[in-house]
Amino acid sequence: MSNKYDVVVIGAGPAGYVAAIRCAQLGFKTACVEKWHDDKGNAVYGGTCLNVGCIPSKALLDSSHKYAEAHKDFITHGISADNVTMDVPAMIARKAKIVGQLTQGVKSLFSANKVEGIAGTGKLLAGKKVLVTKHDGTTEEISADNIILAAGSVPINIPPTPIDNDIIVDSTGALEFSSVPKRLGVIGAGVIGLELGSVWSRLGAEVTVLEAMDAFLPAVDTQIAKEAQKILTKQGLIIKLGAKVTGSKITGKGKSKSVTVSYTDANGPQEAVFDKLIVAVGRRPLTENLVDAGSGVELDKRGFVVVDDSCATAVPGVYAAGDIVRGPMLAHKGMEEGVMVAERIAGKKTQVNYSLVPFVIYTHPEIAWVGKTEQQLQQEGREYNIGTFPFSINGRAMAANDTDGMVKILADAKTDRVLGCHIIGPSAADLVQQIVIAMEFSASSEDIGLTMFSHPALSEAVHEAALAVNGHAVHMVNKRKR
Ligand code: FAD
Ligand code: AMP
Repeated sequence: MSNKYDVVVIGAGPAGYVAAIRCAQLGFKTACVEKWHDDKGNAVYGGTCLNVGCIPSKALLDSSHKYAEAHKDFITHGISADNVTMDVPAMIARKAKIVGQLTQGVKSLFSANKVEGIAGTGKLLAGKKVLVTKHDGTTEEISADNIILAAGSVPINIPPTPIDNDIIVDSTGALEFSSVPKRLGVIGAGVIGLELGSVWSRLGAEVTVLEAMDAFLPAVDTQIAKEAQKILTKQGLIIKLGAKVTGSKITGKGKSKSVTVSYTDANGPQEAVFDKLIVAVGRRPLTENLVDAGSGVELDKRGFVVVDDSCATAVPGVYAAGDIVRGPMLAHKGMEEGVMVAERIAGKKTQVNYSLVPFVIYTHPEIAWVGKTEQQLQQEGREYNIGTFPFSINGRAMAANDTDGMVKILADAKTDRVLGCHIIGPSAADLVQQIVIAMEFSASSEDIGLTMFSHPALSEAVHEAALAVNGHAVHMVNKRKR
């Protein structure tokens, strides 16, 4: 094989593998360098998302949700499920199987599309060359007309709680516990902390989440964040806000090992003892050793690759996408950037609409949103109308005994154009997508109100919230009528 390509992608996570496949579809001779490998040295594709992120966390969230339902909810349906037990190793093995199927799936897509996978660590050199260091230490230089950097991100470690992968773990270690810890500490009440905290709480751990900030989920619409805090607390999560972790000490041996965590809150220094501690304080771009100083690619102070709106770096023909560039660290954002870059290389004018990135927190109920929050609209001085509809009066949610939460839609007071949608409730991730599509087509809340929704369905709550914006929800008494 010649070592000259049309496109070389570094990293096969959602941004990189999608970019590589789209490049190959467009007729480019494409290679994708990936350092993740199995014990035989074969590349494993899918990145954080498939291996230790989105997919394994959702697998555990689904298993633990079923367990919690069997314990707490089946009885309301008349089903008695005494002696329901959880085999943690079996749950972890199921997760591993799903991960294996999906990473194999990417491998198959690579061969079907003729993307050449190269196992090794890539580094961008000057002149659009890539130095590949193989797992046996040998090196090879390849080059391409276009390079796409998609090296992704890794968990942030903080000095007070060094990861030992036994008692103190990061998000990756938290997907591998072999039993349910009795007392679990989670540092960080962000998306990952709440999702992983929920998994182990549902299985019986006493979970305490320590969050440095005073506000709970400050990026989320305040009304929805308050509702989320109430519901998660009711489920058993102990959420301590304004609690900044300052230190940790591991004591004991073998099974009696525990960690004493020091933190400060409004009342001064505090301590808490846990059997396991998950550090979930965010992620950082993985860009050290990714680009040679002479390559011309710039990193910002936090290590992100500097790119423009089209993911182009300052070096013609060199692009970067996914978690290593600005914007939310989300798989779907990276995938869309991967497609955009591939199509731009092919001369198309593809863009990513960064104002309509959907966000989801996969707790139960799910929390999902798109567009502006009420606070953002207030800060911008925009006039808006609000429509809300609770799941407690949605027929389908009642049938499923899954009635926590609401849909909230915000629309411009003059034009009625939908500006944001915020949902906490069953299947919120799928429901919010309806509004992402509506907003992509600049829909008004009236447009959504005039659309027919199947009955009975959870999405009727979206319909009714849209009707409520203009004061004429049908299955609810409106706060203001029109
Ligand atoms: P990555 O997925 O990190 O992939 C980068 C790849 O590049 C990796 O395979 C890495 O090995 C490889 N690589 C790095 N450096 C080199 C190099 N020099 N040479 C060769 N290869 C290299 N996002 C969502 O949208 N939804 C979710 O539900 C969700 N849940 C998550 C749950 C957890 C626990 C975690 C940790 C993350 C979650 N995320 C979720 C975030 C999501 O995983 C990331 O946003 C996404 O994986 C980023 O994609 P990426 O392609 O930019 O990078
Ligand atoms: P996210 O970036 O969404 O994954 O969230 C990480 C969370 O961890 C943020 O809300 C941070 O405020 C929080 N955090 C970071 N450092 C600490 C610390 N030392 N103690 C407690 N919380 C922290």
